[in-house]
Amino acid sequence: MKERKVRVRFAPSPTGALHIGGVRTALYNYLFAKQHGGEMILRIEDTDSQRFVQGAEEYIIEALTWLGIKFDEGVGFGGNYGPYRQSERRDIYKKYVRQLLDKGHAYIAFDTPEELEVKRNEIANFQYDASTRMQMRNSLTLSASEVQALLDANTQYVVRIKIEPNEDVHVQDLIRGDVVINSSVLDDKVLYKSADELPTYHLANIVDDHLMEITHVIRGEEWLPSAPLHVLLYRYFGWEDSMPRFAHLALLLKPDGKGKLSKRDGDRLGFPVFPLEWHDPKSGEVFSGYRESGYLPEAVINFLALLGWNPGNDQEVMSMEELIQEFDLSRCSKSGAKFDFEKCKWFNHHYIQMMDNKKAAELFMPVLAEHQIHADAAYVEKVVGMMKERVTFIKDLWETCSFFFVAPTEYDEKTCKKRWKENSAAQLTELVDVLRDREPFDIEGTEEAVKSWIDSKGYKLGDVMNATRLALVGEGKGPHIFDITEAIGKEESIRRIQRAVEVLK
Ligand code: GLU
Repeated sequence: MKERKVRVRFAPSPTGALHIGGVRTALYNYLFAKQHGGEMILRIEDTDSQRFVQGAEEYIIEALTWLGIKFDEGVGFGGNYGPYRQSERRDIYKKYVRQLLDKGHAYIAFDTPEELEVKRNEIANFQYDASTRMQMRNSLTLSASEVQALLDANTQYVVRIKIEPNEDVHVQDLIRGDVVINSSVLDDKVLYKSADELPTYHLANIVDDHLMEITHVIRGEEWLPSAPLHVLLYRYFGWEDSMPRFAHLALLLKPDGKGKLSKRDGDRLGFPVFPLEWHDPKSGEVFSGYRESGYLPEAVINFLALLGWNPGNDQEVMSMEELIQEFDLSRCSKSGAKFDFEKCKWFNHHYIQMMDNKKAAELFMPVLAEHQIHADAAYVEKVVGMMKERVTFIKDLWETCSFFFVAPTEYDEKTCKKRWKENSAAQLTELVDVLRDREPFDIEGTEEAVKSWIDSKGYKLGDVMNATRLALVGEGKGPHIFDITEAIGKEESIRRIQRAVEVLK
């Protein structure tokens, strides 16, 4: 078989917000495609109109764009294999349904829901398959003229695949190896419904993967049970030669490892399970998102990449470029990956440290604006550079360093009791004179001048420094004192000290 250009697809159904597990599937497809110089396609699988949710498609595109997962083709991206929305491909599917019927690999079934219910009650563990199909009302049991009469009368029907029993079907999975399932356990799945003139997932998926020249299907393991049926469909269509390779990714598990991660776990345990905040249009519920919670896209990507895959060494921090280099389907785990969201916070902290101060300052600006602070960009950059190692999220910078922007108006009671001594007011009044004389008002020089004044007076260094900190910050926290004085400047430092003396004396 000739080497084909790698083409993968991410094929979500727009039934709600894209779950973080779906994001991981998209990411692995992307890494694989880019590593092989291939193409990544976005196909929207909206054949189940009952489950369609308004806004879901836009959400999926916005979320993946935010994360830097880029598509070469598909809904919203164009391309030569469209349309890429399945609801717009009705006529294409009809042709292929016809083909299967003509070849005898599918048949028309007229059983009503009531008739199926009767059979289910009559036969234990009823399954529509080789063992039961000849007792049902379908084109295998009815005469050609009866079938035609029903069709002429516009009777609703479905088309079912005709699975031949007692055959071992092999799915060659790039993660799991050779997965074998006996065709007798498969049922004659519905491929098409006349009611809405739409195919079901199984048929649409195969036809589209074939027509869109998909070479690798990388998807969640919940689709593994469908894979044998898909292998059979490829064969029934005569497309075995171009059948994509499969890779089924293990589930994401709850943080305690018990069961599949669900959308309820997130808000129960305090972490998002959706990339972006999601407002459920049906229930009105709001689910938190990584973006709105202050995670950086790089951190989310790095975190997700390592949930179910590892590079084979202990490297943890990897950029998208490095991930593209290193990714390897054969290193994906066969068992579920526990969703350790603390690790995601760790990555976020890490990426904030790696980020240049200018960028971090830009991200902090809107947070400042929320607090009515409109500071000079260079000043914000300087503050951020001093303080970012202390935070996990950019927005936490406010809590950590608001005193760089606003003078304290109150003084923490506990700190006052402990740090403001009888002679503090007198000492800080003298300190003001020392500071006023300092020129330049730099970090080292000011520190030296203050320390030699303390020495000459025989004061206790700790006492003066603690009281000064209280005056500058309003409490006992913050970086090195002279980093603060240098940043806020001479006038402001003096103003703050004088005010503290005024209020606390
Ligand atoms: N539409 C399916 C989903 O929502 C796609 C499964 C597949 O990738 O084949 O996950």
